[in-house]
Amino acid sequence: MEQNNSLSQAAEKEDIKIYWDEPMSRHTTMQVGGPAAMLAQPRDIRELVSLVYLAGKNNFRCMVMGNGSNLIFPDEGYKGLVIKTVPNYGGIYVDDDGVIRAEAGALLSRVATVAAQNGLTGLEFAQGIPGTVGGALCMNAGAYGGEVGNLVQRTCYMDANAKLHMLASQDHLFGYRTSLFKEKPGNVVLYTEFKLQPGGQKEIQEKMSDYAARRREKQPLDQPSAGSVYKRPEGHYAGELIEQCGLKGYQIGGAMVSPKHAGFIVNTGKATASDVIALMEHIEEVVLEKTGVSLEREVRVVNHRR
Ligand SMILES: Cc1cc2nc3c(=O)[nH]c(=O)nc-3n(C[C@H](O)[C@H](O)[C@H](O)COP(=O)(O)OP(=O)(O)OC[C@H]3O[C@@H](n4cnc5c(N)ncnc54)[C@H](O)[C@@H]3O)c2cc1C
Repeated sequence: MEQNNSLSQAAEKEDIKIYWDEPMSRHTTMQVGGPAAMLAQPRDIRELVSLVYLAGKNNFRCMVMGNGSNLIFPDEGYKGLVIKTVPNYGGIYVDDDGVIRAEAGALLSRVATVAAQNGLTGLEFAQGIPGTVGGALCMNAGAYGGEVGNLVQRTCYMDANAKLHMLASQDHLFGYRTSLFKEKPGNVVLYTEFKLQPGGQKEIQEKMSDYAARRREKQPLDQPSAGSVYKRPEGHYAGELIEQCGLKGYQIGGAMVSPKHAGFIVNTGKATASDVIALMEHIEEVVLEKTGVSLEREVRVVNHRR
């Protein structure tokens, strides 16, 4: 408690607002999860760096999140400081040479729209991904054959000691739904530069509309979810395996395997994080038993203690 107080006093001295016992169900697209001891939404790079520094100095656990579209906080909540880059730290700047610089809390879909408006091609696939630039770099978000890792020119990030570094494209350790930021979670994306190519605005818009239509047709976009729960196992699709096992529509509490797309778990209205986690464990057990395939989670379940 003492640590909380000294951290919040230090933050308030810097004019950074701290929210106490903030329910994480309000900050995640699955809409489940108990309270974070503290939550802050930095307005600029200075505040973001200060918060990480102050948490470290006060020996207080902290994590950075974006739009919460790939995160499940447990019902017990998070005993630490959550730093949420959305909606305040999200500037997008277009340079002359096809480079877009985007701050960590910029929504990826917004960056894709800005690219389209400026006749820049490459980010069309990203339009329907409801995450931020920081979350997308961490997860190497991708769809329809594209992924952000192919477009990143360089990234400014902060290490766990609040020191700033510039990371060259080839040093991001991008892989399928992974990166340096996933492997080493103490490192925080501050901003990145996407290198795009000139393209025809009409073609770019058409591609984006096509992808949006495909998402509407295949995905349960009208219900809270965290997107695809599992990575694609080699040689399979997770959704198909789950469906083959007869789990489409299977429900635990308020969490259900989407009847529209078995790769998604949806919150039918009153799900708890425990329902979602129990359903994931059940799916993993049944799929392993019936198909021999071990599903690997794409969504991150936050550990409330460590
Ligand atoms: C309906 C729906 C559709 C989706 N479709 C896709 C899809 O097509 N392709 C795809 O790849 N994903 C998809 N997702 C999943 C999700 O949108 C992506 O993984 C997205 O990149 C997560 O971004 P976020 O800002 O929400 O991150 P969060 O969920 O807030 O965080 C995810 C991880 O990133 C870390 N993180 C966040 N910000 C930073 C930062 N600044 N620095 C370092 N680490 C950070 C967090 O600590 C956490 O570990 C979908 C989700 C939904 C709900």
